[in-house]
Amino acid sequence: MLYVLDIDDTLYLERDYVRSGFCVVGRWLAENRNVEDFFERAWTLFESGARGNIFDTVLEDLGIFDKELVSHLVHLYRVHHPDILLQTDAMEFLRRHKQADLAIISDGYSSAQWSKIRALNLEQYVDKIIVTGDLGKEFWKPNPRAYILAQGGRSSEECVYIADNSLKDFKAPARLGWAPSVRIRRKESLHYAIDTPESCIEVDLLTDEKL
Ligand SMILES: [Mg+2]
Repeated sequence: MLYVLDIDDTLYLERDYVRSGFCVVGRWLAENRNVEDFFERAWTLFESGARGNIFDTVLEDLGIFDKELVSHLVHLYRVHHPDILLQTDAMEFLRRHKQADLAIISDGYSSAQWSKIRALNLEQYVDKIIVTGDLGKEFWKPNPRAYILAQGGRSSEECVYIADNSLKDFKAPARLGWAPSVRIRRKESLHYAIDTPESCIEVDLLTDEKL
């Protein structure tokens, strides 16, 4: 079997990446703009469910909003070396399988995703790593290109995708005739509240015996 894994909220908790990015941005703002409480403000917004516009909102609240500053902060966030760790069950799963039987498909900007891959040391466990950001925006999920590349010469029934986001992760593997996907539903994951599609197997840890 070829186990193809997502990264964010599948192998580690994405909220840890967000926290780590806010810390780096907060430090830069403290040193360069005398802003002492960026982290607290941004994290409070994140915890209350805000997504996508947190930098804009905090800078507006602080009265220092400008577009170039936001772009710079987004850049710092995406290139920072994150302080993140593999979940214990994810580490066990990766160690339990041969490198040749593991692949990764991760959606997102190349610099951010590769920083996570390095921080989690994933190249030591997995043969094939595909970041959709390297392929071009049109190939982000749910486009099947990354899945076709991950599959390589294997038959489709031999491939299974393991991921957390019911909204975008499982369409392509279903279309390609892969084995039923596994939806991992971690307690603190960002998409926890979204139901698992009927066609998927749900687990809360990668050490679940259904896997
Ligand atoms: Mg994910």
